[in-house]
Formats: sequence, structure tokens, C-alpha cells
Amino acid sequence: MSKILLVTGGSGGIGAATARLAANRGYDVAIGYAGNAAGAEAVAADVRAAGQRAITVRADVAAASQVRAMFAEVDQQFGRLDAFFNNAGVLFAGTRFMDIGEEQLDRIIAVNLKGAYIAAQEAARRLARSRGGNGGTIVNMSSMLAKLGGGLENNDYGATKAAIEAMTIGMAKELAGDGVRVNAVRPGLIDTEIHARAGDPGRVGRLMGSVPLGRAGRPEDVAEAVLWLLSDKSAYTTGTIVDVAGGRGI
Ligand code: NAP
Repeated sequence: MSKILLVTGGSGGIGAATARLAANRGYDVAIGYAGNAAGAEAVAADVRAAGQRAITVRADVAAASQVRAMFAEVDQQFGRLDAFFNNAGVLFAGTRFMDIGEEQLDRIIAVNLKGAYIAAQEAARRLARSRGGNGGTIVNMSSMLAKLGGGLENNDYGATKAAIEAMTIGMAKELAGDGVRVNAVRPGLIDTEIHARAGDPGRVGRLMGSVPLGRAGRPEDVAEAVLWLLSDKSAYTTGTIVDVAGGRGI
């Protein structure tokens, strides 16, 4: 029987690459998305072409009610959850720390921190053996900016991702006895739409000098690490943040 994976932010970028790779590794996949229904459907079609089941579920993770409805939909459609990739996130155009406004701060915390937090809770409630689950794996999405602190830009984003790392470590300790392993990935500069969506399409090129391997990461580079952390191959790994950054930040 195929394992069931839910990916938030599965309509593009790293989430889409992970959903596709997961299908090739034998998972059925629930693809969460916010606005890009066509992207989510394209990923679902690829999952089905790989011989696995797929559903798409629209949910703005900033709204707890929508996160809960997304998990309920997975319950209804698949009847089980084995793995969760807590990936959805946003970035805003680089702004000096002193100039980041309240509206931007509220939104980035709502999506990257509160949304990921509520989603992680919903996943844990389903996986934890003490709550009737069968155990499982959760991978949270950090960023190298959690370690770098932003650095002249994107401090708000780095702060939300640092909080995700703390959440990951605490979750790993609390849930180990429940058969749930919790890890995170910490990507560096990955070539996705997130930079252009932040209004800064030149961001990757501008920061490339900070990448020892000398190239942007591909979404597939991150997906490989995520799939390892989700799988039994990482059975003795929990509470770890895995850098996928081409050496940026070392
Ligand atoms: P992306 O291509 O822009 O994809 C972002 C995904 O998140 C999309 O599927 C998007 O859905 C979804 N999303 C955004 N806001 C959402 C919301 N409020 N509710 C639900 N879903 C939402 O970006 P990406 O680079 O793949 O980013 C994925 C994750 O990796 C993010 O958490 C990001 O912070 C992290 N990350 C990225 C990099 C990088 O360099 N790219 C580096 C480190 C960490 P729709 O398109 O359907 O709206």
C-alpha cells in the first residue's frame, strides 16, 4: 500500500518538485496550494502519470480554518496520513530592518510561522501513536536566512524561518516517543519563482557570490533531501536541520 504524503505549497517550486519525486518513490500525494490551481493540477497529473493517486487542496495556510479543512480533506480522500512536507512560504522584497512595515510583518508571520505551526500541529495529531496514529515523518521548511539573519535584507523572513527551526527541534523531542520523526531542510538560493514573486527577479544572481558551489540550487536538489528525511532511510535522524545550500552559510 502506498504511503500518503501531504505537501503544502505543492503548486510550484520546491513543493512541486518534491511531490513529483515522491510519486516516483511510490507515495500518493495531496498537493496543497494557495492560488495557482493550474500549477497544482499539473503536478497532480504528473503524480498520476507515475501511477500514484493525487488530490489538490486549496488552502491559504495563514487561515487556521483553511489548514484544518485541508487536513480534513486528506482524511476524507485518503483515509490516512504518513508523511507531511510543511513547505508553503512567502518572501518579500528585501527591505532594511528599520523599514519593514507592520502589514508585511503580520503577513510573513501569518504564513511562514503561524501557518506552518498550525499545519505541523494538525499533522502531529494524525501521526502520533498516543492519538491513534501509526507514527510518521514531518519535514519543515527553513532557509539559510534563519542562520544568516537576513543580512541587510529579508530579516523578517529569516526570523520566521529561525522560529521554524526551534519548532522543529521541540517537535522532534516531544514526538519521538509517539513514533514521529521531525526534521527540516535549510535551502540556500534555489531557482524558483519566489524571488520574482517578491519583486526581486535578480535576487539569485545578485547573491550568487555567496555560494561556494557556484550555482543556484534546483528545486530537485531540495526534494532529494526532503524525500530522504521523509523515508525510512533516515530512520535514526530526528531534530536535524539539513543544509541544501551549495555551501552558502558555512
Ligand atoms: P514558490 O515557487 O514561490 O512556491 C511557493 C509555494 O507556496 C507555492 O506553491 C504557493 O502556492 C505556496 N504558498 C505561498 N503562500 C501560501 C499561503 N499563504 N498558503 C498556502 N500556500 C502558499 O517558492 P519556493 O522557492 O518553492 O518556496 C517553497 C518554500 O521554500 C518556502 O517556504 C520558502 O520560504 C522556502 N525556501 C525557498 C528558498 C529559495 O531560494 N527558493 C530558499 C530557502 C527556503 P500558490 O503558488 O498556489 O499561491
